[in-house]
Amino acid sequence: MVYARVKVTSFACTIAELVRSGSKLDKDDIASILGSDDQVLIEQLYGLADQERAEHVGQEILLRGVIEFSNYCRNSCAYCGIGIHNRSLARYRLDANQVMDAVKRIVASGIRTVVLQSGEDPYLDPAWLASIIARIKSFAQVAVTLSVGEWQEHEYRLWRSAGADRYLLKIETTDPLIYSKLHPGMSLENRLRCLSLLQELGYQTGTGNLIGLPGQGPQQIAQDLLFFAKGQFDMLAIGPFIPHPDTPLARHPYSSIDLTVRAIAVARLLCKASNMPATTAVATVGGQQGRHLALKAGANVVMVNFTPAPYNTLYDIYPDRPCAEPIRVISRIQDWARANNRTVLFSVGNAKDKKV
Ligand code: SAH
Repeated sequence: MVYARVKVTSFACTIAELVRSGSKLDKDDIASILGSDDQVLIEQLYGLADQERAEHVGQEILLRGVIEFSNYCRNSCAYCGIGIHNRSLARYRLDANQVMDAVKRIVASGIRTVVLQSGEDPYLDPAWLASIIARIKSFAQVAVTLSVGEWQEHEYRLWRSAGADRYLLKIETTDPLIYSKLHPGMSLENRLRCLSLLQELGYQTGTGNLIGLPGQGPQQIAQDLLFFAKGQFDMLAIGPFIPHPDTPLARHPYSSIDLTVRAIAVARLLCKASNMPATTAVATVGGQQGRHLALKAGANVVMVNFTPAPYNTLYDIYPDRPCAEPIRVISRIQDWARANNRTVLFSVGNAKDKKV
């Protein structure tokens, strides 16, 4: 008992000292933090991550408005409910007016970032998306974020010159074996290539991973987190895996909210100035409390879903996604922020030192 206590204290000191001295946590340090069963240590980790968040990105919780404009997808990522393997799902694609109606609702709510997300829609006309981006940018002073998967350089260029400011492309896992098992017909190399291209083209670039994938343990997650640290990404979305009944991973267990929040906290220690959402998946697995836990352990962004009904339920990447009215979600976040000495920022909310 005494031995355990001594060990814990010195380990916790090690994390704190490493963080203060600016030295890097290595893969083994990170893996032992992720796998630790010591609650005292974990509380200290969360506290440190919270301090780093306050120091480097401040007290503000940044809000983003998300529009999931198409659930068509050419891929069959084993965890994802909108993959081509799901033949029972009704498919939809919003037209330009439907997208603009959702944009208007985002702007009316006060939010100044529009995230356009979709499956990798094989019928998506890149010129159509460019025209939507241009329409949004001329409609209001907002940042436009794309999250539409892997495309060619000329498409990324086209959208960037149409006015897109940011791009989210999660690496999902950096482990080559796990990646190849979960992504038939895709390659880790291409995903990495796309991420570098996006950075080169001047997008504020975000990536992220899934926690709780088959074959993934603390070592693999530690590897992901070190990849994030090296890549200097502007945004990092770390979310728990949620099993979808119509996918090959239907029987794989839910990810733990605890492990996800630990990964977010370590990511904050490694990537001090990145914007990190308390993802919707965190709120799905852990409820509002899960979201609050993430916001207290390093996260500083909340994504609010503005996809109109009935399409919001058809963007079925995982089951039981909360689909409360955006206004309610925003007011709940505001209540929580008030009670926790945080503020809610509606303005553009760029990555540090970046402009739109
Ligand atoms: N086609 C785009 C957007 C994908 S959907 C792209 O490839 O980037 C956005 C995110 O949903 C994915 O990056 C993935 O991390 C997450 N997601 C998909 N299925 C999930 C599941 N079953 N559980 C948790 N998150 C999931």
